[in-house]
Order: sequence, then C-alpha cells, then structure tokens
Amino acid sequence: MTYNITLIPGDGIGPQVTEAAKMVLEASGVEINWEIVEAGEKVIEKYGTPLPDYVIDSIKRNRVALKGPVTTPIGIGFRSINVALRQSLKLYANVRPVKSYKGVPSRYKNIDLVIVRENTEGFYTGIEHMVGEDAAESIKIITRKASERIAKFAFELARKEERRKVTAVHKANIMKYTDGLFLDCVRKISQEYPEIIFEDVIVDAMSMKLIQTPQDYEVLVMPNLYGDILSDLAAGLVGGLGVVPGVNIGEKEAVFEPAHGSAPELNSNMANPTATILSGIMMLRYLGEREAADRVEKAVAKILKDGKKLTPDLGGNAGTLEYTKAIIEIL
Ligand code: NAD
Repeated sequence: MTYNITLIPGDGIGPQVTEAAKMVLEASGVEINWEIVEAGEKVIEKYGTPLPDYVIDSIKRNRVALKGPVTTPIGIGFRSINVALRQSLKLYANVRPVKSYKGVPSRYKNIDLVIVRENTEGFYTGIEHMVGEDAAESIKIITRKASERIAKFAFELARKEERRKVTAVHKANIMKYTDGLFLDCVRKISQEYPEIIFEDVIVDAMSMKLIQTPQDYEVLVMPNLYGDILSDLAAGLVGGLGVVPGVNIGEKEAVFEPAHGSAPELNSNMANPTATILSGIMMLRYLGEREAADRVEKAVAKILKDGKKLTPDLGGNAGTLEYTKAIIEIL
C-alpha cells in the first residue's frame, strides 16, 4: 500500500529536519508518495499569505501531514500559521510524548509522559485588541465542548497506551469560570474511566513538580497556553527540543510535527532531526505501520545510546545529514 502524505518543509531548519525524516521513513520500507507543499515566510510574496489554500486542501485530501516548523514574527506581522492551521482544520488535540532515551544528556532518567494540550481555544483564539493607547486586552475562551473533547482524548490515549494516571493542569483557583469549567469537564469525563487514576494540579505547582519528580506523571491534560509552556519545559527534562515529537489531531486530519520551532539562528546542517524523525514514527503508528515504526525507533534509540554520532545540541559534532545517514545504516 502506498500512502499519500502532505509534506510541509517550513522555515529555518524545517527543510533540513523534514528531509531527514523523509529519508529515514523511506528507508523503513513503507511506501509513501509525498505531496510537498510550501507554507511560511517564503510564500508570502507569491501568495500574499503564509498559509495558502492549497496547503489546507492538500492536508484535507491526504488527511495526514508531516510538517516542519514555521517562523512567526513576534509582536508584529502575520498571525501564527500554526494557530491558523490548527483552527481551520479543527486539530483540537496537540500531543507531545516526552520520553528519556539512553545516551541523550539530560538531568533525569526514565521519564515517559505525554502532554495533551487543547489546541483550538484558551488564550490562542487571537481575539486581542488595544483599549485606548495604554492598555491591551486578550480574550480567553473555554467551552464545555472543547474541554470535554480534549479530556476524552486524554483518557482514551491513557487507556490505549495502558497508562495508569491522568493529571489535569489548570489555574481554576484564580480563573474560576474559564479554568473552573475546564476542570469540571475533565472531572466529569474521568468518571467514565474508573480504571485510570485522576488528579488535578494547579499549573504553577505543576511546574515545580515536573522539575522535582517528573517520573510521577503519565498523561497531563491542559488548556492551550499551559500546554505550550509545559511541553517545552518537559522537553528540557529529556534533553531539549531536538528530541520531542508531536502531532496535532482533529476529527479527520493529523499533522505531525516536532515540538521545536524554526531555530533561525542555527547554521544549516546543525539541526537535530530526531524530533521530526520521532514525529514520523508517530505517523507510522497512526497509519497502522507498527512494525516499521518499532524498527525505526529502535534504530534511533541505538544511535542515541551509542553516542558516537550525536548532533551539537546533544554534545556531539555530527551534522544533520551524517546523523540521518547513520540511522539509515542501522535500519
Ligand atoms: P525554537 O524551538 O526554534 O528554538 C529554541 C532553542 O532550541 C534554540 O536555542 C534552538 O537553537 C534550539 N533548537 C530548537 N530545535 C532544535 C533542533 N532541532 N536542533 C537543535 N537545536 C534546536 O524556538 P524559538 O527560538 O522560540 O522560535 C523560533 C521561531 O520558531 C519563531 O518564529 C517561532 O514562532 C517559531 N516556532 C514555530 C513552531 C512550529 O512551527 N510548530 C513551534 C515553536 C516556535
């Protein structure tokens, strides 16, 4: 069987890391017909938008995409392509598995948790404006529908992966209506999963607990902004953004992408492609290609454990291509 998959190379290090993932996935033996579509800074001049309609159309057609990071200007300029993509395709769940791999320099061992972030509302609705010249207002939206949907997703994931505990992360002590509603919804859904332990932790305390005892957590479910922040924090626990994959999932489509950004300051061939390759492995599992996914993950784990060919962010001096070829050789 040949899979049609949309590939969005993205900006900065995006083209290098997605090319690396493409090479590794092809070496796995799974037949993929890549439909390469460009989005991001480089298409603005031609199409007048960083997210042309043909990108959305391609994902809708193929239903599965692998995406590199794209640059979003801070404070000024166009709105985030990521936010627009997630909202237009209703990719409501952002999933980031955070896992320790032997050989990756990090402060902790044996971390294996998943961050499930609500992806369509919270503080990322883009409803923001100035109030006069000296004040600005941003509106946070939490709905019962989106909160129950993400809670269900988190519990289903826990059940499927045989994980024992789901932790809701919130700030309901201060934001009693918005986060209060989110917490109520997760609590209600938790009752449908009696075999799974449910607890809730306030986001500031969670930041400390993740640093102190990250091994205590399995599935963390939270609104958009907290998920964005805590998933980068969690990446720091297992060796950095270069090794954390992710996916944005909706009712119909799934867009796999590394947790990191476009790292525009990195020289070419210095990027660690592991996060994008691991995103590709998640994609293979999503497609039902479990055996190929396991094989590729074993090859990645071996190269990391050997430690002879690591990229500079992990303390080595191998370039993106050299590291990628080493994985392919093991495969
Ligand atoms: P970033 O993730 O690009 O970089 C943060 C740090 O991690 C930098 O020191 C960078 O060098 C390092 N890093 C990240 N990925 C790496 C990799 N694969 N290998 C080695 N080192 C890596 O975050 P940032 O600097 O805050 O953002 C840069 C741009 O990326 C911004 O325009 C931002 O909006 C965008 N961004 C995009 C996405 C996405 O497309 N999903 C996600 C986050 C940020």
